[in-house]
Amino acid sequence: MQKINKIMLTAAVCAAAALTAMNIAFRIPEYTVLILICFAAASVISAVIVFLSIKHFEKERILRERENILRMMHSLNTMAVLWDSDFHYVEVNAELTRSIGYTSDDLSDIVTLRKVLPPDAFAPSLQAVVNNRDEEFEVIAKGGAKVNTIWNTSIVSTVDDKKRNSCLMLSIGLDISETVRMKEDLIKYSKELAESENRYTLSMDLSEIGLLLKEPGRSSYYISDQLMNMLGLNVSEISEGVLRARFHPADTMTFNALQAAMVNRHLLNDAGTIHSTEFRLLSADNTYHWYQFRYKITPAESKLLANIGGAVIDVTKDKEKDLLIEKMAYIDDVTQIYNRNKFMQIGQETFECSADADRSYWVIVLDIDNFHIVNDTCGYQNGNKLLADFGKIIDRSVSAGGFGARIGGDNFALLIHDNGDEKLPEKIIHKIQREIKDLCTDNFAMQTITCSAGYCKMSDGGSDFAQILDHAEFSLSMSDGSKNDIIRYDNNIHDRIIAGTALENELAAAIENNEMVLYYQPKINLNDGSLMGMEALIRWIKPDGTVIPPNQFIPVAENSMLITKISAFVLKEACRQNKEWQDKGYPPITVSINLTAVDFYQTDVKEAIHYALAETGLDPKWLDVELTESLALKDIDHAVKQMQEIRELGVKLSMDDFGTGYSSLSYIQVLPITLLKLDRSFIMYLEEDEVSREIVSAVIKIAKSKKIETIAEGIETVGQAEILKKSGCDHAQGYFFGKPMPADKFEEFMAMKAERQPQIISVEPTDI
Ligand code: C2E
Ligand code: MG
Ligand code: MG
Repeated sequence: MQKINKIMLTAAVCAAAALTAMNIAFRIPEYTVLILICFAAASVISAVIVFLSIKHFEKERILRERENILRMMHSLNTMAVLWDSDFHYVEVNAELTRSIGYTSDDLSDIVTLRKVLPPDAFAPSLQAVVNNRDEEFEVIAKGGAKVNTIWNTSIVSTVDDKKRNSCLMLSIGLDISETVRMKEDLIKYSKELAESENRYTLSMDLSEIGLLLKEPGRSSYYISDQLMNMLGLNVSEISEGVLRARFHPADTMTFNALQAAMVNRHLLNDAGTIHSTEFRLLSADNTYHWYQFRYKITPAESKLLANIGGAVIDVTKDKEKDLLIEKMAYIDDVTQIYNRNKFMQIGQETFECSADADRSYWVIVLDIDNFHIVNDTCGYQNGNKLLADFGKIIDRSVSAGGFGARIGGDNFALLIHDNGDEKLPEKIIHKIQREIKDLCTDNFAMQTITCSAGYCKMSDGGSDFAQILDHAEFSLSMSDGSKNDIIRYDNNIHDRIIAGTALENELAAAIENNEMVLYYQPKINLNDGSLMGMEALIRWIKPDGTVIPPNQFIPVAENSMLITKISAFVLKEACRQNKEWQDKGYPPITVSINLTAVDFYQTDVKEAIHYALAETGLDPKWLDVELTESLALKDIDHAVKQMQEIRELGVKLSMDDFGTGYSSLSYIQVLPITLLKLDRSFIMYLEEDEVSREIVSAVIKIAKSKKIETIAEGIETVGQAEILKKSGCDHAQGYFFGKPMPADKFEEFMAMKAERQPQIISVEPTDI
């Protein structure tokens, strides 16, 4: 500034000198020329000084301006380049060098800059650069990576430099790589979406898959065009009521479960899992079609609700095939209602669903009181008729929702939705008990049919449905035998089950510790009193010497599958012991073992027997397998097949406890048995009760006609033995002849029998 002032002062002095010179020149004529020359010189000098001053000021201004711009530019956090239009001057800011990895020196010359910027960045004219707003181009970073940028350029000052008309430009750029990538992705996804939508629509059209969706808060379901066609509807939204009305009445539980799933956040724990269920819907042709609904439950905005949606596929054709197979596997032949397998399957599904949906169900088990008496007195056909009629009553009881099945013999079960009424099970049971009384038509005129029930609530505990059913069955087994008894599972029963579990654990340990021992009870030939066989009877001998009879642990073992271990031991030990005695020279006799339903229905029972015989070397003809009739009748076809296979090994088969179960003599004709064992209950009153004598005699006769030998068990008196001998009974077993005894005692018994000529019974067999 001082410099400018000095120049201006000099110019002003020169000008003042010129003016003074002019003044003097006019006053003093003789100096006029000289003075004018001085004046001219002073004017020229001052003009030059002014011109130079202006020039200097301009340069200073430009420099200051540039400094300001540069300061501003470096403070920007976007890319910036300050340049003059003919590229004599280029300055880049720190953000640009950071973004593309070059130093500011690298970029200060046009050669490097041209490598970095694309050719079109150097627009043909200045105006073009300025006019092109938001120009996008790729900047090549050091190393070759491309950075997407968008630029705007402004002329920040004009430079009139040495006859050149040059401008100073400021270009500001933004890194838009991320935006560009998102844009590209979006385009790619939109393309893919369009393609997949096309494919989806095509596959929907071809595969006839309908869609069913429900969002929480909406009262209606969305249904796709396909589903509209399938159901014969012409609206794409239907209310819950309309959908419910389309469900088959027997599938209302499924509908309820689906509804419940929507208000249930637990299911969201496995959000993403595909669930599947099947139900019948009234369809376009006005018949019920089977549909499979494969759906997902996804979280909705509301914290308490969920979306539900998925594909609905018409599976009627498959279902028809399935139903046929299912009928064979799951429908009980006698009653035409579901069997135990199906009950377990539905029960487990309901159990899982109820835990999720926070719903509860009742499980009721019913048993026809003294059903075997109906069988005995009215015959097998009438027994079956009673079961079939009972099945119909069960079916009617669940027609309004619920599930019923025959779960074995004369046992039926119901699964009923808990509507909050604690008395509901008893009301249903009472209704059934009233209806069953009406079954006393001609066939069962002599007796009133009654049934007892045990029941429990699903939510009362149990880790799976099998356990819940166990609770109900256990409650039923608590009945003291009174008619029309009803027992609810409660804490008392629970404690008894716990005690059972404790026993189960103790038993498992006992088996491992070899605490199981076989006792042997003699079987006597009634004709000559000779020892014809022995029954192997298990005992649990605790380390303190306490002997536990089988009735106290076999049922527990049967429930826990420990029985298979016990039976394997019995089978092998009985064969081994018999072979050992034969090898010692005792007269060969048959050893009988008892098998349970669990053993019998396991597929490898034949292999197990075959293996035990082979391992011990016992001839099959010296082994006899005792089965109870209830066991054999559980699944008669399977039983016959299994029994035939066992017989093919050369092993004998006895029907144990004959007369206690659903006995019907007609069974004897179909079962390949060699020996019929009359139950002790027939024998007990032989001496005083004529009816018992008649029954026993009739059974023996029929058995003889089928070439089946007979043995009576539980003979305690000589009188009983004599009556049986007279009746033609072939063999006998009972305390009268010998109690079950340990192996060493039985060996002594055999030795004694071998020495002594057997002549216990002298009465000749006669017909009564
Ligand atoms: P079971 O097969 O009917 O065996 C006959 C039962 O009647 C035996 O009871 C025997 O001791 C008893 N008994 C024999 N004669 C008389 C008599 O004159 N009077 C009386 N009051 N009872 C007599 P035990 O040994 O207590 O066996 C009871 C049941 O336990 C057996 O009935 C059988 O069902 C089962 N059991 C025994 N051992 C085994 C085994 O090894 N495996 C299996 N699965 N069950 C067995
Ligand atoms: Mg037996
Ligand atoms: Mg028996």
